Amino acid sequence: MFHCPFCHGWETRGMALAVLAREPREAMLALYVADRFSDDVVLCTNGPLELPAEIVARLDERGVPAIDAPISRVTGEPGALELHFADGRTLARDGVYHRAPTRQHAHLAAKLGCEILDDGTVRVDERQQTTVPGVAAAGDTAKLPAVPDAVTLVSLGAADGVRAAVWLDGDLFRSGLGLTPT
Ligand SMILES: Cc1cc2nc3c(=O)[nH]c(=O)nc-3n(C[C@H](O)[C@H](O)[C@H](O)COP(=O)(O)OP(=O)(O)OC[C@H]3O[C@@H](n4cnc5c(N)ncnc54)[C@H](O)[C@@H]3O)c2cc1C
Repeated sequence: MFHCPFCHGWETRGMALAVLAREPREAMLALYVADRFSDDVVLCTNGPLELPAEIVARLDERGVPAIDAPISRVTGEPGALELHFADGRTLARDGVYHRAPTRQHAHLAAKLGCEILDDGTVRVDERQQTTVPGVAAAGDTAKLPAVPDAVTLVSLGAADGVRAAVWLDGDLFRSGLGLTPT
């Protein structure tokens, strides 16, 4: 099962795929995968899902059928999965896309008094600084409120971390000289 077409899309090219979608924007993932990687994509909504007419039309155009029966379980091996639906149907697939929800676990930033956004991430500015002077955050946990749907990747987390460290060190250097931090 794959969670991200950017991380794993290439590996799924040409596969018989299912995309699990519980909300309309996740149905877009089925369209995206059908557009980029495979002609055999089935949208599985795990129950009725009302989709905007324009998305339904695009799914039809791309030949992406939808199954709205609840999914009771998924079995099989990597590369040979089987979705079992509550109505007794089964669907054999080489791979399944499923964007499982993720959440932040670390409470360190909150303990330090940093502002935490509604989704549990730590508010940062363009220099990775949190709302507490001298505390920076980087990676998945750090979010610019202006970019709520930020891309989260290993390379970006590492880059943010380097930027945070450079800015923090610059501030330490300035304050060591008795200058105001930037
Ligand atoms: C299924 C999946 C597949 C992915 N595939 C890719 C991919 O192919 N390529 C890619 O670039 N990105 C991929 N990503 C995204 C990538 O994993 C993240 O963007 C990246 O790991 C973020 O790094 P991070 O250091 O910010 O957070 P994390 O990697 O989550 O590291 C945070 C660490 O902090 C630890 N921690 C939490 N609380 C505490 C605590 N209180 N004390 C001590 N430690 C604590 C956690 O255990 C964890 O090890 C994938 C993500 C998922 C979920």
